[in-house]
Amino acid sequence: MITINEHYHKLQASYLFSDIAKKVSRYQKSNPDKEIIKLGIGDVTRPLPPACIAAFHQGVAEMADESTFRGYGPEQGYEFLRALIAENDFRSRGAAIEDDEIFISDGAKCDTGNFQELFSTDIRVAIPDPVYPVYLDTNVMAGRTGAFVNGRFDGITYLESTRENQFIPALPARAVDLIYLCFPNNPTGSTIGREELKAWVDYARNHKALILFDAAYESFIRDTRLPKSIFEIEGAEEVAVEFRSFSKSGGFTGTRCAYTVISKKCRVYDPNGRAHSLRSLWNRRHCTKFNGVSYPVQKAAAALYSPEGKAQSRELVDYYLRNAKLIRSAMSTLGYDCVGGDNAPYIWIDGRADSWKFFDLLLEKAGVVCTPGAGFGRCGEGYIRLSAFNSFDKVSEAMKRIKESI
Ligand code: PLP
Repeated sequence: MITINEHYHKLQASYLFSDIAKKVSRYQKSNPDKEIIKLGIGDVTRPLPPACIAAFHQGVAEMADESTFRGYGPEQGYEFLRALIAENDFRSRGAAIEDDEIFISDGAKCDTGNFQELFSTDIRVAIPDPVYPVYLDTNVMAGRTGAFVNGRFDGITYLESTRENQFIPALPARAVDLIYLCFPNNPTGSTIGREELKAWVDYARNHKALILFDAAYESFIRDTRLPKSIFEIEGAEEVAVEFRSFSKSGGFTGTRCAYTVISKKCRVYDPNGRAHSLRSLWNRRHCTKFNGVSYPVQKAAAALYSPEGKAQSRELVDYYLRNAKLIRSAMSTLGYDCVGGDNAPYIWIDGRADSWKFFDLLLEKAGVVCTPGAGFGRCGEGYIRLSAFNSFDKVSEAMKRIKESI
């Protein structure tokens, strides 16, 4: 008899986006002439930068010619891309990351989801609330949690992000072994400063814990005082892994390319307390289960590091940041407390009401779709998330409608 992994039954069915879709379709049916503006999901709308498109075409042309054709590439990614990343994203900012500490992949979603499988099931896991759901659900699937009671899984230490702590969770009162952090944050748009991040690094060093640092939105950081990488913090290379993605910095959500960074200095332990290289473990896992990102896609990603590519990527992110600024200022003018939107594409808005009620209000009065904060965890109740990923015209129209109708 084929039996299932019963932990899958503990997963909470995510009705969030299907409930949103149902409400939107009901509204559209009763208002057929109204154009709905979607500021709910975190998917980009602008095309790939010209430098990427040219490199992508060139990669395809090489694949079409027998003399330049390539089959399987290195599982960890081509050296040309790893070297560009290590130099531009880390060494140039004072973080001593070597080329072979970069692992190219097809997404930060898979990497942040898969990483937990390197660890035993009895480790103590700390996960933010509200949260990008992948971190939580993959630990549930792996059997690291108990039952779901009152909106929370037994066995997980929830790191609460609230107005009181400026949406930067406090260090856990109970010792933990694996810590998920995400800055700039999805869904709150909050950022973390050097001192606060150092406190987490110190905590991990003191507890022999590991931080999984999701920096998928790093390219939105414009405040030069903020760290872009956890490896800018002294000692982090021994206790942290960083996840990055070209999804938002290069418009690659449909093209797929990301990377994970693990220093050779990072150590994890067996039950006898013997230290092992985390990089070697991930290398083993990556080479066993993954066969590399396609050559043309890696060529396109590498083009983001050319002078034109850098300028175009910045312009792309600036476009969304302009939307974010407009959303934040419009909602603030209406008297709502907002976080994010200055170094992040998300604006987290205190709706002063039930998340879903505020969702209904925006949809019914303004024809604007947001994401109810309650869908990201218990601490999201009362909030909504607006995303800057849409055209400037649509964002302007959305804010005009909200101002006129609320
Ligand atoms: N991490 C966070 C916090 C995200 O919000 C997202 C996408 O929305 C991802 C990772 C996924 O990135 P990728 O497109 O590289 O899989």
